[in-house]
Amino acid sequence: MSKLTGQLIVNPSSKVKLAEIDPASDGGIKGKRVAALQLQKNLDRLAVLQHLLYAENRRGLLIVLQGIDAGGKDGTIRNVMTGLNPQGCRVVSFKVPSELEKRHDYLWRVHKEVPAAGEMVIFNRSHYEDVLVARVHKLVPKAVWVQRYREINDFERMLSGNGVKILKFFLYISKDEQKKRFEARINEPEKNWKFSQSDVDERESWDDYMRAFEDAINHCTTAQAPWFVIPANKKWFRNLAVSGVIVEAMDEMKMHLPKPSANLSKIQFE
Ligand code: AMP
Ligand code: MG
Repeated sequence: MSKLTGQLIVNPSSKVKLAEIDPASDGGIKGKRVAALQLQKNLDRLAVLQHLLYAENRRGLLIVLQGIDAGGKDGTIRNVMTGLNPQGCRVVSFKVPSELEKRHDYLWRVHKEVPAAGEMVIFNRSHYEDVLVARVHKLVPKAVWVQRYREINDFERMLSGNGVKILKFFLYISKDEQKKRFEARINEPEKNWKFSQSDVDERESWDDYMRAFEDAINHCTTAQAPWFVIPANKKWFRNLAVSGVIVEAMDEMKMHLPKPSANLSKIQFE
């Protein structure tokens, strides 16, 4: 494991305390220039690895992105998933459940979207909303959401046992940084559309959200589906860190191009 990944991963045997992590950290990387070069290297490698995943057609990759409003989920997708082949790559955004979804268990809509063999799927929000927003806003009683950590671990273990590699990222910004980003959304006309009243209301529950994130991460970081806490105030560091972790994990999958299905040496054309 690289030094950077080692710093970001939440070990199942230890507990993370968000208050002890600096959201403005740059992981000791010397400057934006160095980071830009490294990011480009990661993106080039990611394109190759995605091609292998697709060609191999045996395993899937699930990337979960969680974070507070303005935490940078959309920006991460835009910056890190650029250059991938759309054939074999999907983004799924989980919103407030529809009437139909509400009539099912909370994993129903999620299970339908998990990657098939050869596919890479990015979850912009996920089943973790059901232990985050559902907990903070008391959408279900505590007796229900406390059970969900175990249910989620069981679900993810099942996926992992069936060929889905899972990587989960918490994009961690400070409350101050969130304010700056909201102000930008209000002051810059081309960003106005991103701002909603609910952003203001949700900010009032900041501390409750941080507690909910911390618990979700600590209960659900496992060997087969680890959580990574990404200091995300600095977008360039966030992009570098997320892409670095994904590349490293995919390299470890030791993927190979499949053997040709035909005996190529015997083929002759008229
Ligand atoms: P956005 O990501 O800004 O488009 O907002 C999506 C909204 O959907 C957020 O306010 C989430 O909290 C909400 N949401 C996503 N999943 C759930 C869920 N399972 N239950 C309730 N609200 C959810
Ligand atoms: Mg939003």
